[in-house]
Amino acid sequence: MELKKVWEKVLASIELQISKPNFLTWFKNSCLLDKNDETGVAIVGVNNTFSKEWIQTKYHKIILEALQEIDSSISRVEYVVISKNKEEDGFQKPIANHFPQKEIAQINTDPETNLHPRYSFKNFVVGSSNELAYTAAVAITKAVGKKYNPFFVYGGTGLGKTHLIQAIGNEIVKNYNNQIKVKYVPSEKFVNDVVWAIRSKRMEDVKNKYRSVDVLIIDDIQFIGGKERSQEEFFHTFNLLYQNNKQIIISSDRPPSAISTLEERLRSRFEGGMIADITYPDYEMRLAIIKNKTLEKGIELADNICHLIASKLQRSVREIEGIINKLHFYQEFKGTNNIDLKTAEEIINSVIQQSAVAINPLQIIKAVSQFFEINQNELINKSRRKEVVLPRQIAMFLMRDMLGMSYPDIGDKMGKRDHTTAIHSYEKISKEIIKDKALSQKISIIKEMIYKNNSSG
Ligand code: ADP
Ligand code: MG
Repeated sequence: MELKKVWEKVLASIELQISKPNFLTWFKNSCLLDKNDETGVAIVGVNNTFSKEWIQTKYHKIILEALQEIDSSISRVEYVVISKNKEEDGFQKPIANHFPQKEIAQINTDPETNLHPRYSFKNFVVGSSNELAYTAAVAITKAVGKKYNPFFVYGGTGLGKTHLIQAIGNEIVKNYNNQIKVKYVPSEKFVNDVVWAIRSKRMEDVKNKYRSVDVLIIDDIQFIGGKERSQEEFFHTFNLLYQNNKQIIISSDRPPSAISTLEERLRSRFEGGMIADITYPDYEMRLAIIKNKTLEKGIELADNICHLIASKLQRSVREIEGIINKLHFYQEFKGTNNIDLKTAEEIINSVIQQSAVAINPLQIIKAVSQFFEINQNELINKSRRKEVVLPRQIAMFLMRDMLGMSYPDIGDKMGKRDHTTAIHSYEKISKEIIKDKALSQKISIIKEMIYKNNSSG
């Protein structure tokens, strides 16, 4: 029997034994390269080193058995990487949005201010959708605490709120030579600090931490809604800072009036300051952002492709960045600077489709269980089996990363775990993904599985 036929039979047998997404992921590009009847060695070709390791550890047994059923003389299987591309180092690069921006961002965050240097006014593109917010932001840096206090900026996800409010912080640090103490904090971090303080009876520490700053920047305040003790604490901190002419800057995904669980007194405080919104960028501005980002990252993209991106991606700057990265990766992979319009369009469409389908936490749980071949219940329940610890952390990481869920919600979905477990998981995986190539590959494959499962219903 020729090699191709043998391998087809082997694949047919494997397909019955493992899940469809796993099958497609690991065996799609595999082949049988050689089979030596005398030595009993079969050589299987796979498309990258990561697949090789994975197949070896997880599927070796079923491959060997399937081969032996067809040819009983086979006693050993060896795996080799066959790369299609000369320049390829055998390690397939991630396919989609693997290194989420915010994780990379954490690497260089200033420990004192929590600000990341990549956010500045200089690389913030201004247009009609964010002009008011930008103008107010700049004015604040020139009269800290005196003008537009508090400053409340709101708008949809991925439109530049975090960028803008961190840019204010960075500008102040730069202009005032560290004489003005700035602190940036995502509101969830604030909530966690308060919860921790209550538990460990260290409320004074937290009070001091936040009340000793000159500029307090709180991101995504909507997460604080409903958390009574945190709101209470924030209210007091707010009042104290405000009375001392300290600058308060707040962002949210919606206006104060629309945060239903926000205490009335806090809401009216916010409304007493300057409120600015950021809306969707128009075509011209999207194009400007694309040019800006490609310059910043040193990526070459043809003009017609820039126009295509600007016309197709209308809803989020984060998505625009994602597509630029993806096109860039594709060009590098192919070793070219001009990918054709049709290919670009296909790549763009796939991103749009991915973001259009609503993913839910259950799909994440399903894909992670599938990938690691563990039971969904076991992933969620209290099992302490070593094999489920990492998958569980990955599931929590993905809920945060892909869906932006709050930590308490994640804990809840993962078998009523405490929110601190969710935080720990997210932070741990975020850190490891940067250092550990194999882990980042696994996570990107799981993401692809989620999208695939999703689009196939
Ligand atoms: P949000 O906090 O509103 O969800 P971010 O501030 O995280 O959004 O922005 C998402 C990404 O888009 C970031 O990488 C940010 O630098 C970029 N971005 C958003 N708006 C602009 C802009 N006007 N100019 C340049 N980059 C922008
Ligand atoms: Mg943000």
